[in-house]
Amino acid sequence: MSIYDNYEIVIGLEVHAQVSTKAKLFSGSSTEFGAEPNTQTCPIDLAMPGVLPVLNSAAVDAAIKTGIALRAAVNKESVFARKNYFYPDLPKGYQISQADKPIIGEGTLTIDLEDGSSRDIGVTRLHLEEDAGKSVHDFGPEDTSHVDLNRAGIPLMEIVSEPDMRTPEEAGAYVRKLRAILRFLGVCDGNMEQGSLRCDANVSVRKKGTTELGTRAEIKNLNSIRNIQRAIAHEAIRQIDIVEDGGEIIQQTRLWDAVKNVTRAMRSKENAHDYRYFPDPDLLPVRFDDARIEKNRAEMPELPDALKERFVNSYGLSAYDASVLSSSLATASFYETVVGGGKNRDPKIAANWIMVELFGALNKIGKDIESSPVSPEALGKMLDLIADGTISGKIAKTVFEEMFEKGTDPEKVVEDKGLKQISDSGAIEAIIDEIIANNPDQVAKIKAGNDKLLGWFVGQTMQATKGKANPAMVNELLRKKLA
Ligand code: ADP
Ligand code: MG
Repeated sequence: MSIYDNYEIVIGLEVHAQVSTKAKLFSGSSTEFGAEPNTQTCPIDLAMPGVLPVLNSAAVDAAIKTGIALRAAVNKESVFARKNYFYPDLPKGYQISQADKPIIGEGTLTIDLEDGSSRDIGVTRLHLEEDAGKSVHDFGPEDTSHVDLNRAGIPLMEIVSEPDMRTPEEAGAYVRKLRAILRFLGVCDGNMEQGSLRCDANVSVRKKGTTELGTRAEIKNLNSIRNIQRAIAHEAIRQIDIVEDGGEIIQQTRLWDAVKNVTRAMRSKENAHDYRYFPDPDLLPVRFDDARIEKNRAEMPELPDALKERFVNSYGLSAYDASVLSSSLATASFYETVVGGGKNRDPKIAANWIMVELFGALNKIGKDIESSPVSPEALGKMLDLIADGTISGKIAKTVFEEMFEKGTDPEKVVEDKGLKQISDSGAIEAIIDEIIANNPDQVAKIKAGNDKLLGWFVGQTMQATKGKANPAMVNELLRKKLA
């Protein structure tokens, strides 16, 4: 037991999700990623005198859909406000955001943990806001800085959670689930590397058993789930060390240094009143009716939680397996193609092959399921070969490796490599007889009641046939002979 076990970590997350619209939140500028600096801006993005912002209604629909998916209150009236601050990448001097009247109110996100359990995390709010530009320091002569305003005005949804998470793993599960929902809805591509999904983690610690919240630090702009978890873990230890030394935590904004594995102070935390929020006089309140909400609801696909439940109910999968296989549309459709493609494919065996062998192999080459060298059709055919006894489950791993490496069809791999299962009972019997004859001691033991030795005989037989003997037949024959 260490001092750290006496503390509880409290985590609240703020996620900025870039809404997948073609145009910006208040102008017609393109939102495409990767363009030359400052080629996708216009006077509205810079708030030149005399311009008028016009709200992109696709962003509103994205927020409504996300609100419904988060089982949240969808506010039929919300207000855009100016958040005033100075920053070189913000020539306007303010950001258009939403303050006390956000478009989406309180909701819930259910997270799935590795032990198969689920937990509900409170969502405080979701509001729409525009992104700022980007300062560029590695362009042009040394000691100069530049500003790229392509991002200025890109629509973001900021989704704020309650301080309901207690471990780095829960925080990771929250972001994973939120990203899955956004992707299913098609409202955000969820690409953390390109900055389409960014996360700030608020972290505090308190003695176990106490209920008061400790002072928090906010770690800015975490760009991967792994970094979110590591930053939280290290920040919690830093805070516990301070408290244990009799010190006090100061409320501040910190940055995660992924190379040194530490968080560093960036600035003291500003409060809402520092921003002098006021309703943007250029924009009317956003108002819509129930019909608009229902229209959005009708356009929504089956979401991860529903898909997970369906996988549990119709395929008998465990809660955890179901949550993994429903975590992306690509994974879900791969799985359903495998299961649905053949006559009697076993859903649990299919799940195992995807989650263990396929994911393991994809992980090694850093690819995701969309670019899997093994198609769901081919994997399905391989499962049929196991089911009809052409190959054993063990030999299938060799077949799979070959399919994965060369993209070959399973039947062809079996043919070319001579991996066909031996299901000729006479042939297997001859091998078994020889093993029995050569091991009288073991035979005596098993006949005296040591049933565990059966496994040893199976192993010997499989070894003698290079794994190709039909395991069911081997078992049956051995049982008969050694009974
Ligand atoms: P701000 O916008 O200034 O960062 P908010 O009130 O919107 O402040 O809160 C931001 C996040 O901080 C929320 O996700 C909330 O759950 C979380 N939070 C608030 N207090 C704590 C705390 N004591 N420990 C951990 N997280 C906290
Ligand atoms: Mg914040």
